Amino acid sequence: MASEEQKAAEAAAAGDAVRSSPTIFDKIVSKEIPANVIYEDDQCLAFRDIQPQAPTHFLVIPKTHDGLTQLSRARDDQEQLLGHLLYVAGQVAKKECPNGFRVVVNDGKEGCQSVYHLHLHVIGGRQLKWPPG
Ligand code: AMP
Repeated sequence: MASEEQKAAEAAAAGDAVRSSPTIFDKIVSKEIPANVIYEDDQCLAFRDIQPQAPTHFLVIPKTHDGLTQLSRARDDQEQLLGHLLYVAGQVAKKECPNGFRVVVNDGKEGCQSVYHLHLHVIGGRQLKWPPG
């Protein structure tokens, strides 16, 4: 039977593999698959969600995935990038949804995350409810 240390090492190796794998969002950045891009700069890309949950629903992602699979895995050296993503989300959102909007980051299984490449959801264009489901 594997020791706790072996199990931890295997889990870490599996996690590293997941973190370094290209995601569907990497393919959007590289233009291998199309997306409705609404904002782009050297660090990030914003594009419309393919399954919108509100009249306005777009995602803001870092162009370089670099292990940033989810918010809880962010490193110290990614702090500036996280601030930039949030700033861009707000700047684009205030044009798209002048009456208000919501920014959401789903993290991990219980957070309902499905794509392991950090992304901010920006949702608006209708009256949103609270609490979310
Ligand atoms: P999450 O569940 O937080 O990981 O959100 C992933 C989001 O990515 C979902 O809202 C999907 O609808 C969206 N999505 C997946 N594939 C694409 C795509 N090719 N273009 C745009 N949005 C996508």
